[in-house]
Amino acid sequence: MAAAERTELDLWPYEEARRLAERVGNYPPEREVIFESGFGPSGLPHLGTMGEVLRPAYVRHAFKVLAEKVLAETAPGAAAYRRPSRLIVFIDDMDGLRKVPESIPNREPTARYLGQPVSRIPDPFGGCHPSFAAHMIGLLEKFLEPVAVGYELMRSSEMYAAGRFDGALSLILARHGEIIRIVTPTLREENRAGWSPFMPLCPACGQINSTLVTAYHPERDTVEFSCERSFGGAHGCGFKGEQSVLGGKAKVQWKVDWALRWHVLRVDYELYGKDLIDSARLSGQILRLLGGRPPLGFPFEMYLDEEGHKVSKSIGRGVGVEQWRRYAPIEVLKYFLILNPRRARKLFLESIPQYTDEYLDALRAWSAAKEGARRNSPLEFVLQSESARRFNSTLSFGLVMNLVGALGTNDRGLISRYLKVYDNLAMPDPDTQDLFHELIDCAINFYRDFIEPTKFHYTPSDDEREQLRALVTWLERNAEASADEIEKAIYELGRKHYDKPGKIFSLLYRVILGQERGPRLGTFIWLATPGFVIFKIISSVFLPVGPLTDLSNEEREALQTFLRALDSDQTNPVSTALSTIPAVLWNDVLQRVRQLDAWIPRSPNRPEAEQLVYLGHVARMSYVASR
Ligand SMILES: [Zn+2]
Ligand SMILES: [Zn+2]
Repeated sequence: MAAAERTELDLWPYEEARRLAERVGNYPPEREVIFESGFGPSGLPHLGTMGEVLRPAYVRHAFKVLAEKVLAETAPGAAAYRRPSRLIVFIDDMDGLRKVPESIPNREPTARYLGQPVSRIPDPFGGCHPSFAAHMIGLLEKFLEPVAVGYELMRSSEMYAAGRFDGALSLILARHGEIIRIVTPTLREENRAGWSPFMPLCPACGQINSTLVTAYHPERDTVEFSCERSFGGAHGCGFKGEQSVLGGKAKVQWKVDWALRWHVLRVDYELYGKDLIDSARLSGQILRLLGGRPPLGFPFEMYLDEEGHKVSKSIGRGVGVEQWRRYAPIEVLKYFLILNPRRARKLFLESIPQYTDEYLDALRAWSAAKEGARRNSPLEFVLQSESARRFNSTLSFGLVMNLVGALGTNDRGLISRYLKVYDNLAMPDPDTQDLFHELIDCAINFYRDFIEPTKFHYTPSDDEREQLRALVTWLERNAEASADEIEKAIYELGRKHYDKPGKIFSLLYRVILGQERGPRLGTFIWLATPGFVIFKIISSVFLPVGPLTDLSNEEREALQTFLRALDSDQTNPVSTALSTIPAVLWNDVLQRVRQLDAWIPRSPNRPEAEQLVYLGHVARMSYVASR
């Protein structure tokens, strides 16, 4: 049984969980399995941070799934999976501030504290927290909240101050010579002289990055040092003295610090970015010197932001989680982070819709799968069963986005009414409906931020106008046509006018959507309704936004009177509505509307009143667009 499951559950967290089970197989039964992840609170959390916490959480989840759902209690080795586990997010708040992040307020006052541990620097965000680090930790907690994974925070400053590291610090001091011999050859030439595993906290100026160790006294747990280093505009104060390395009066350099943590917390598993391979190797060597055993894990590929740089926290560039949630559900991010971490994937904000559709496909497959197969889906980790979601709909995010774009509205109700036409089965299911509304909100945000600014107005040639007129006529006569019938009709029209019939689609995308490409038009027109597409064509061909901009109050009032006349229930012809406007004000607009009136095909099926409504819509759209 166990062997058969082995080949079935081959997602990377399961593979990692099995390696881990081998490592911890011989531990006493009560010993916990420790997962660790680090966070540097000198900058804001970002998507890289999310990956660093979520990925070990996925391995931890795989460990639990194997123990609780897959392996029979009597299976060989099953006991290894059944032990308790913790995920520690270790906050290095003893770290000195090297550079004031660009993304924070009060940069100038904060710069006075350069070189001091971030746990001792005042909160630059208006003092809502006891320190700079505490504010960043608060952000981290808020940041991790939506992903709903279990973890515990551990603060370096508290660990040092409480003496939890003292035993290991004495050991490091005793073996400082060997540590220096391991580390210095890996440093740049100019940094080798005077490198020490210890960074004493200067009692005179409070800096930790400015101190230079001059002598070691392992027999009394102290070092001698002078406060004389300069970096990034901060300078040591010149203090000289001897000081204990215990109880928070010093910290160790970060590669030594990593080894120290692994050792004291007995870390079994830690994932880190590929850029830290060398540091991890070095920390492993130091750890062995202390009598420890390096944790398991593998270096993952870093994902890149829109400029192709690594997502960097110190300058706050790249995609933040708030930004992500503006454009896609948080589950899509969790999904993105479980995809093969050994392969670099570029992360552009613009590529979020593509990942959303990938996620929706996976969610549909997951809903349809049997329980056993579900376990090998990334969704087992994204949803972690208790927050199970369903999506009983064939809708794609791409289609929702196109609809939002074409309707040019942020009215969620209107958009869902349209989508209901497409998939009315989706509506009764509350899970589906929730996700549905979230997708609409995200599509609206995405449209506003990325698509709308790229839209253009296209002015068709006379020949193209004829094609558009023919399409309008066809749509009016075939208001009940299916998506396939509409697609076919467009194709036929294309055949009449072009050597390659597909060329007509480019024209329609330009005119209807203001873009070069778009969704399958038959489906789109059917969904948006032929009537709406007719408005769209008419308004973009005959009433470009330009001349209506910069309305004076007088003009605005006149237009409103005109619209009211159109809206009223009277049966008077267009000319009456038009007569409400002083011609001197509206020469240009009047001409366009008259043109429009003549252009919209008259049909015995459409009474005069309906003609007015068409015109009213067109005029209103131009008016709204011009504001
Ligand atoms: Zn604060
Ligand atoms: Zn000093």
